[in-house]
Amino acid sequence: MVKIMATCALCKSDKPLVESHIIPKFVSDRIKNNSPTGYLRYPRLGINLRVQDSNKIKMLCDDCEQRFSEAEKNFAEKVFEPYHESGTTSFAYGPWLSYFISSVNWRTLHFDNISFHSEKKLADNALNVLDKAETMLADFLLGKRVDIGNMKNHILPMFEITDANSPLKEPNFYIRVSALDYTFVDPANNGFYVFANLAGVLIFTVIREGRKDIWKNTFVHQNGGFIKQPQRISSPLIYDMVQYLAECSGVKVSQVQKDKIIESLKANPRATQTKAMQFRKLDKKLRGGK
Ligand SMILES: [Zn+2]
Repeated sequence: MVKIMATCALCKSDKPLVESHIIPKFVSDRIKNNSPTGYLRYPRLGINLRVQDSNKIKMLCDDCEQRFSEAEKNFAEKVFEPYHESGTTSFAYGPWLSYFISSVNWRTLHFDNISFHSEKKLADNALNVLDKAETMLADFLLGKRVDIGNMKNHILPMFEITDANSPLKEPNFYIRVSALDYTFVDPANNGFYVFANLAGVLIFTVIREGRKDIWKNTFVHQNGGFIKQPQRISSPLIYDMVQYLAECSGVKVSQVQKDKIIESLKANPRATQTKAMQFRKLDKKLRGGK
């Protein structure tokens, strides 16, 4: 059998590449389990498009794919499953958490940088910031450096949108039954971010913090620590995400709504809803029902 060689996106060596999940498999499995229709909704492809297993791409060699597996396993067992099973939003973590967040966001940044270079919409200095961030994350993932420099990883598991002005009719439902990831550049506030929503667990790599940002109790220390509530994020990044979800679901967003959304997203440690139908109850409550 002839094996096709290609360049691994991470270690840059020419080897046979294996299929990697864009969104970790345990996340898409959970989305399928939680969704009443049993399908993954992936906003980048259209929120109502039902995707079964096209969430794969050949980008890594087997060695690099294996590098990520231990941190993924730790995240699934110690953060993701307790969050979905029992609404756990406070937890102890080891160095694996920063590694896991870096691995997911590096993948996103890698693909987005390819688009940014071909589209030529970003200024050269912005491209430069993003290229350097990608290299630094790759070096960290390969063990060539012990940290991610001035960048910061953050996590916000479980949040409830409590603002009835939210442009999404069922924001709590949509966030927990979807996965999305993208790079966000905010030139007005000099903010640079890569983030992913993993079925309700938000993970961020802040390349440069925007001028108006507030990140409370969300920072992930390189060597481990403890995530505790209450958490809060106020950043243009958040309303961009909600706007994006709204666009995917075909809803228009006004500027007034956008301004309100910045203050409307926060962690809610009391919420223990675990399944899609329960998220819909949250949304019903948001619209004034019971
Ligand atoms: Zn490799």
